[in-house]
This record gives sequence, C-alpha cells and structure tokens, in this order.
Amino acid sequence: MLNGKIAVVTGGSRGIGRAICLKLAELGADVAFTFAGNEAAAAEAEAACRALGVRVLAVKADVGSAEAVSAFFAQVLETFGRVDILVNNAGITRDGLALRMKEEDFDRVIETNLKGTFLCMKAAARPMMKQRSGRIINLASVVALRGNAGQANYCASKAGVIGMTKAMARELGGRGITVNAVAPGYIETDMTAGLPEDVKASMAASIPLGRMGRPEDVAGAVAFLAGDDAAYVTGQVLCVDGGMAM
Ligand code: NAP
Repeated sequence: MLNGKIAVVTGGSRGIGRAICLKLAELGADVAFTFAGNEAAAAEAEAACRALGVRVLAVKADVGSAEAVSAFFAQVLETFGRVDILVNNAGITRDGLALRMKEEDFDRVIETNLKGTFLCMKAAARPMMKQRSGRIINLASVVALRGNAGQANYCASKAGVIGMTKAMARELGGRGITVNAVAPGYIETDMTAGLPEDVKASMAASIPLGRMGRPEDVAGAVAFLAGDDAAYVTGQVLCVDGGMAM
C-alpha cells in the first residue's frame, strides 16, 4: 500500500500516465500530475483519481521547460509538503526517417523525453535527499534497446533515459533513493492509435504473449517499483513488452 505517500507523475492526463495515476491512487497515494495542454483529458483523469478518495493536483506544465518544472515542484511541495515517488512518464514522438528528419523534430523529442526527465529528477531529488528516501521511475521504451526505423530521435531520447537512470541510481543510492526504468513495448494508447491495422496485427503476432499491451500492464510494473517490495531494486530496466525485446 502507498497510503500517505505523495506521487508525482508527468503526463498523467492520458494513456500510460493516466493508468499510473489511477493505480497509485488506488494504492492510497496522493497524486500530482502534469499535462501538456489537453485540459479536458486532465480534468477527467483528475476526477477519476479523486473518486478513489485521494488528494489530486493537476497542473499544465511543459516538462521540457526548466521554469515550468521548477514552478510545478514548488506547487507540489506547497500543497503536499513532500515528494515520495516520481514517475517520469511524459513523452512524445515526432517520427520520420533520419535523412528527412527536421532538426526541430529531433530537438523537441530530446527536450521533452530526455531533458524533461532530467529536470524533474533534479527537482524531486532535493526533497527526496532531505527525506533520505524516494522512488524515481522513468519511462523508457524497448526501442531504446532494439532500435526502430523512423525513430532515431525517440530511440536516442529513451536510450538516454536508461543511461541517466543508471547514473542517478548511483548518485542517489546512498540517500535511500531508488531510480529505475520501465521499458514498455507496444501499448495501446493515443501514441500508437495511428498505426495501420495490418502493422498492429503483424506486431501482435511477433510478440510472445500475442497481444499489444494495455496501459494497466505498465502501471502494475510502476506500482511494484514504487512500493516496499522493490526496496532493494535500483538502476534496473524492467521491460513490460509481452516478451518482445528478450
Ligand atoms: P500519450 O498517450 O501520447 O500521452 C502522453 C502524455 O504526456 C499526455 O498526458 C500528455 O499531455 C503528456 N505530455 C506530452 N508532452 C508533455 C510535456 N512537454 N510536458 C508535460 N506533459 C506532456 O503517451 P503514452 O503512449 O501514454 O506514453 C507514455 C510514456 O510511455 C511516454 O514516455 C512514451 O514514450 C512511453 N512509451 C509508450 C509506448 C506505447 O506504446 N504507447 C511504448 C514505449 C514507451 P496532454 O494530454 O496534455 O497532451
């Protein structure tokens, strides 16, 4: 159970982030989450968490902006007084073959997925170090391990997240803070909704468990890493991919 814990989830309004907020709330944690601009989805996710009986704070904040991240964490600390769990989930894709990829599409993906994760870890590490405890869970992807044509920017950002997870696990371990990554395979969310049906079918056929993943599959792994049972696990990458990347 996570009663009394304060969880911060970036990109909590939709998809995997929303499922993570709900799972952590179901386990008793109060939840603060960011979103990029979809106010309706954020309001719906906020209400769904609140219905589970926990306190919720939803803030529009771009994780790629140092100013926005620092203002968001100030608001979290003012509201809840501490940060026990940080889940760096906010992420975007701007796909295209490398030779045709625009520089701005490369930069935007790195800024959101990699720099955003760095900025939030830095902001959360301060209160966690004072508390001498904390759990940080970063969303990577199996494509960081396998590569994926058309996603040079995204693969680079997620491989960076894995390297940074291990570096921070070493830096923060002495203060009782664990830092791990979860690497989802293909999960049914808005991010993958645009894929053609035949591509989805051939993908599902290549996955040992024979189906795409659900946001709840990822939320369960995150909840494990956020809970007491994972107290001695740090610097790890947990693939939640139906066996795709083994
Ligand atoms: P999604 O459905 O597209 O949702 C993305 C979430 O992130 C939304 O809540 C969005 O807010 C928020 N967001 C986007 N940019 C942001 C920014 N700059 N600042 C703050 N919040 C931002 O994505 P998803 O499929 O759930 O993916 C979640 C994470 O899992 C990502 O890191 C993704 O790379 C990773 N992942 C996904 C899959 C997959 O198959 N779906 C596979 C591997 C890894 P708005 O609602 O306001 O837009």
